[in-house]
Amino acid sequence: MTRLLIMGPPGSGKGTQAVRIADKMAIPAISTGDIFRYNVKEMTELGQEAKRYIDAGDFVPDDVTNRMVADRLNQADVSNGFLLDGYPRTAGQVEALEKIMEEKNDTLTAVLVLEVPDEEIVERLLARAATEGRSDDTEEVIKHRLDLYHQETEDLIEGYVERGIVGRVDGTGAIDDVTERLLQTIYNIRARTGTLPVIKPRTND
Ligand code: ADP
Repeated sequence: MTRLLIMGPPGSGKGTQAVRIADKMAIPAISTGDIFRYNVKEMTELGQEAKRYIDAGDFVPDDVTNRMVADRLNQADVSNGFLLDGYPRTAGQVEALEKIMEEKNDTLTAVLVLEVPDEEIVERLLARAATEGRSDDTEEVIKHRLDLYHQETEDLIEGYVERGIVGRVDGTGAIDDVTERLLQTIYNIRARTGTLPVIKPRTND
């Protein structure tokens, strides 16, 4: 069982790395941003509720987000673990996730924090705006998302640091190199906290 969080500012490469790490570990990468965007595209009730927040670069309200994540973590493919990308982002979400984990008698394996300087973030997101055309990648909204990260999300990491499960990883440089750093960091945390998977020897009986 591997239960991971990946945190970091918008544009730090969380989504890209989450998919790679999750593939390697045979667990689903769960991106709240992707789920919201999918619902916006499909014009579901959830999408119609979320759209105005996303376009403004604001957080979707906790009650909506928490309910969505709780539902997702109850689906069958999560039995082997999960990698949450972009959740939690508020103190209320940290609390909600704790409740979900407690109910399942589970604990988090590791919290990965991707670090990229603000100047590079803005550059990356403006470049993405030109190619992907995400509605929230305008300069003004990017700055707002970055501010929100520093105001609301960054300090949440400290609570996980106290549990000895945080690994900070340099998110700059080649994508493959960042993936390697992340995998090594997960290994180090597991070795330190004693949560490496146990491989039993074969016996004759
Ligand atoms: P980024 O990390 O680049 O901001 P995401 O794709 O993770 O991009 O999120 C896009 C938008 O989706 C956010 O700006 C926010 O409106 C909404 N969102 C995603 N995750 C959350 C969350 N955990 N809580 C509230 N809103 C969220």
